[in-house]
Amino acid sequence: MKKMVFKPDIRTYIPGKIICVGMNYRSHIKEQDGRFPTKPVLFSKANNCIIKNAGHIIYPREVEELDYEVELAVVIGKKAKDVPVKKVSDYIYGYTIMNDITARDIQKNENQWYRAKSFDTFGPIGPVILSKNKIPNPQNLNLKSFVNGELRQNGNTSEMIFGVYKLISYISRSITLETGDLISTGTPAGVGVFMKEKKMLKPSDLVTCEIENIGKLENKVISE
Ligand code: MG
Repeated sequence: MKKMVFKPDIRTYIPGKIICVGMNYRSHIKEQDGRFPTKPVLFSKANNCIIKNAGHIIYPREVEELDYEVELAVVIGKKAKDVPVKKVSDYIYGYTIMNDITARDIQKNENQWYRAKSFDTFGPIGPVILSKNKIPNPQNLNLKSFVNGELRQNGNTSEMIFGVYKLISYISRSITLETGDLISTGTPAGVGVFMKEKKMLKPSDLVTCEIENIGKLENKVISE
């Protein structure tokens, strides 16, 4: 029998689980005077939030502060349970960009971040899924975000507190990862809510997230 090879097409790809990492970049913790975590801070987005490059981010009526977060996201290539750091690469299919769109007002006002992170369209990913052999070292990639062409975030994955392999090993200790699950690894400084004068997203804004080698993910914000 021929073995099925997992080779996701970005146009049809929908992750099973989306596990995200908060407070994973030194610069992002500093901009909010936060404490450096001693263990990864994990949360989830529901997979209804997924849209692709050029898809519209719908600005919900009840949201007052909408924000962007450029992130390196990892697509899991095979079932992973309790994987040691050194073996993690074997379980990765590849990499994409996620814009971890967040309703900051809801995030602040609710104990769980789940709703603030999971509205429909709050998970743009793309423009491609790059297989891991194209990114031999995930800890040395420039990542940037722009709103209407204005540079907002400008970091490098070398700033991560917990690197990609450590994160996946850690998560797989407690949560079995399945083929196609998506791990989004956190965001650097420059999000709208922590600027001296807040710069939140508005309807008609164009958000661009860019990661070296992977490309540009562009999404327009539209009113509900
Ligand atoms: Mg995030």
